[in-house]
Amino acid sequence: MKSISLLGATGSIGIQTLDVIEAHPEHFVLTALSFGKNVDKGIEIIRKFKPALVAVSSKEDAVKLRTLFGNEVSFVYGQEGLIEVALHPSVDVVVNAVMGSVGLHPTLQAIAAGKQIALANKETLVTAGHLVMEAARAHNVAVLPVDSEHSAIFQCLNGERSEDVERLILTASGGSFREYTRPQLEGVTVEQALNHPNWSMGAKITIDSATMMNKGLEVIEAHWLFQMPYEKIDVVLHKESIIHSMVEYVDGSTIAHLGNPDMRVPIQYALTYPDRLHIPRAKKLNLWEYGQLHFAKMDYDRFTCLKLAYEAGKRGGTMTTVLNAANEAAVQLFLEGKISFLAIEAFIEKALETHDLIERPSLEEITKVDEETRRYVQSLL
Ligand code: NDP
Ligand code: MG
Repeated sequence: MKSISLLGATGSIGIQTLDVIEAHPEHFVLTALSFGKNVDKGIEIIRKFKPALVAVSSKEDAVKLRTLFGNEVSFVYGQEGLIEVALHPSVDVVVNAVMGSVGLHPTLQAIAAGKQIALANKETLVTAGHLVMEAARAHNVAVLPVDSEHSAIFQCLNGERSEDVERLILTASGGSFREYTRPQLEGVTVEQALNHPNWSMGAKITIDSATMMNKGLEVIEAHWLFQMPYEKIDVVLHKESIIHSMVEYVDGSTIAHLGNPDMRVPIQYALTYPDRLHIPRAKKLNLWEYGQLHFAKMDYDRFTCLKLAYEAGKRGGTMTTVLNAANEAAVQLFLEGKISFLAIEAFIEKALETHDLIERPSLEEITKVDEETRRYVQSLL
C-alpha cells in the first residue's frame, strides 16, 4: 500500500491521478492533497477521498473549508501549506501536478524528506533542474516521470548503459496550429489555441503545445532526468501521438513506446514502477485503426519557442529559469487577451536577451531571477 500526496488535485493530471488511485484501493491511499482556487471541485474530491490534510491557495478558502469539514480534515494554505502537504509524515510518494514553478520548493523539500517523486510539473526541472537532480542523488530518491514522453523514454531506456544511447527522440503532436504557416499564426485567438487535437489538458500546457514551448520544456526536462547532452536530444513531429517517444542506440536499434494517448498510463506507471497494473476502460491500441502513422522533420524557424528552449538549455544556468518564467508570464497575458499569440515568443526572446547569466544559481538566485523575469515581462506590455 502506497500513501500518496497529490499536489494539484483539481487539475487535468490531478483528476486523472485520482482516477488511478480510485481504481486500485488495494494499492494506493490518498493521504494529503492540494489545490489552488477551484473550491467546488476540491470539496467534491475531499468528500470522496477523505484525505487527512489539504492545502489551498488562500487563507479565506482554508477558513471556509475548516467550517465545512470541522476537524475531520486539516486545512493549510499558501506556499507553506503546499510544502506541508508534500511533507506529510506518512506519505511515501508525492505526485507533483501543479502548474508552474510554484512546484519547485515543495519538490525540493519532499526530496530532502526522502519522499519518492512522481513528477508531472515540468516547470520544476526547467527552472532548477540541477538543484532537483543533485538533491535526488544526495537523498537517494527516485524522480519518476509522469510526462508521457519521459515515461516513454524511461521505459525504452530500461536500465541500458547511457554510453550506448545515441539519441533520445521526443515526439511532438504539433499542437493546435500544426498546419498553420507563420503568417497564419498572426491572428489566432485564445479559443483556437486551446483546442488541442489529441490531448485534453490544462490551459497553460495547451498553449505551450501550440507554441511548441511544451516540447522545448520537455527537451530540458529530458536533459535533466536522463542526464543527456542537448546534442543527443532530438524532436520529431508525429501528429497521431501514438509513439510517445523513442531511444536510438549506437547499433542503430531504435526502441519506441506506443500507446493510445491516455495520461493515466504514465501517471500509473510512475506510481507502480517497476510493476504494472491493469487500467480500467483503457482503449486497446489497434494499429489497423490508424493504418498509417506520420512523421515530419521539425522546423525550428516555424516553431521559434523550441529553438529558444534549446539555446537556453545549452547556455544553462539561469537561462532556463528565465525561459520558464517569461513563458509562464507571457502565456498568462495571452490567456487574459492582453497580447497576441506571436508576442509570447517575442517576449520570451526579449527576456532571454536582457538577462545576465548566472552559471550555477542557488535556490535564492533562482527564486529572484524567476520573480524579476515575471516583472520584466509585465513591463513589456
Ligand atoms: P491544470 O491547470 O489543469 O491544473 C493545475 C493544478 O495546479 C490545479 O489543481 C490548480 O488548482 C493547481 N495550481 C495552479 N496554480 C497554482 C498555484 N499557484 N498554487 C497552488 N496550486 C496551483 O494543469 P495540468 O494538470 O494540465 O498540468 C499540471 C502540470 O503537469 C504542468 O506542469 C503541465 O505542464 C504538466 N503536464 C500536464 C499534462 C496534461 O496532460 N495535462 C501532460 C504532461 C505534463 P486550481 O485549478 O484549483 O486553482
Ligand atoms: Mg508531454
